[in-house]
Amino acid sequence: MINKVKGTYDLLPSDIYIWQYLEKFIKELYQKYNYKEIRTPIFEYSNLFHRDNEHSDMVTKETYNFKDKGNRDLTLRPEGTAGVLRSYIENKLYANNRLVKLFYIGPNFRYERPQKGRFRQFMQFGVETLGSNDYLIDVEIIKLAFETVKQLGLKQYILKINTLGDKQSKTNFEKALVNYLTPFYNELSFDSKERLTKNPLRILDSKDPNDLKIIKNAPSLKDYLSDKSKESFENITKMLTSLKIDYEIDYKLVRGLDYYSDTVFEILSTNPNFGSQTALVGGGRYNSLVKELGGPEIPGIGFAFGMERLVESIKLEEISLPKEKTLDAYFITFDPKTKKEAFKLQALLRDNGFITDLNYLNSSFKSQLKEALSEEAKYLIIIGEDELNENKVTVKDTKLETQEKVKIDNLVSYLKEKLNV
Ligand code: AMP
Repeated sequence: MINKVKGTYDLLPSDIYIWQYLEKFIKELYQKYNYKEIRTPIFEYSNLFHRDNEHSDMVTKETYNFKDKGNRDLTLRPEGTAGVLRSYIENKLYANNRLVKLFYIGPNFRYERPQKGRFRQFMQFGVETLGSNDYLIDVEIIKLAFETVKQLGLKQYILKINTLGDKQSKTNFEKALVNYLTPFYNELSFDSKERLTKNPLRILDSKDPNDLKIIKNAPSLKDYLSDKSKESFENITKMLTSLKIDYEIDYKLVRGLDYYSDTVFEILSTNPNFGSQTALVGGGRYNSLVKELGGPEIPGIGFAFGMERLVESIKLEEISLPKEKTLDAYFITFDPKTKKEAFKLQALLRDNGFITDLNYLNSSFKSQLKEALSEEAKYLIIIGEDELNENKVTVKDTKLETQEKVKIDNLVSYLKEKLNV
């Protein structure tokens, strides 16, 4: 037997309705905010992700890289933003100084240590808004992420926001942080030692107990913000408050990727059974990324949700979702002759908009009945020798347990009336 690859999972029919519901829900909600869907390839040239000033673990350690037969260096996308921006630049979607609002949904691949809520292939959906640095766009994006969890009916979550400041504020703070941490170099964890030169802000994200002790007295980002950054962040938080969106400011929230500046945010699950990977969504501003990827200087902001974690939240909070439609009718037959008749009748019912099925395994009456009930069929259509001779079928209502004989010629109108089809 060949097993699935470590860190991947199969989505079986018993669970798929949650995913289909979620996908439909997202598309409808995001359309309301005027986001247009974009679909980009799942693999790209490696240098789209492996850039000189991108030192995150995700890019340096976790990508699936390979050469194709044409000796091209390719990478399975570990996240959505880079591919969407590549496409935005390549297709000149920025023409006429338009504000472009894009939304995507699709699989990503990271060679991470698999655990609860963390996979090597996982689904993300997210948005990118390109072309404006208006603080109201930041609010719109945060509100959209917030509405996603709220309108799904979830209750156990918290929104955390922070600002990393503009480029200058971020650089000044990084310098101060490195100055503070350098005397502690020998005491820092292995990862933090490495981050000290490459991505010092990420040290604030460390979970290592000893790192945490050292970080406790580190300089605070808020003391290094430029007046402009401070004012913009204040505008954002004020507007969030007036929209009645609860949030917590977390000055240690820095997010993994190097390209973020200004606003960053996450929504985390607070369900006690969620496991350690609690981030449902992460996002932020990236005002220099379009340029870094070879495009014009255009500001952007976006977020990405992990779908597996949303599905897990829906299950843990026992949110009841509308179930998939079940069978209107299931045919029960007794021999090749009655099965053939059922097969023809089934085609007629399906043409008339009914959802039906029948048994192709020549199973016993009892197993056919069992199958029909497990499929939650609303009606059984029983065709035996007697019925055939009378040009009728027996129609049984599985809920009321009533049954009556119906002329084959009248079956469609009979079911239409009963099922309001
Ligand atoms: P990131 O792109 O790392 O900012 O992640 C955005 C969101 O994607 C996270 O908040 C998670 O919900 C989800 N996510 C990231 N990595 C994984 C993973 N390996 N497995 C499952 N979900 C993930």
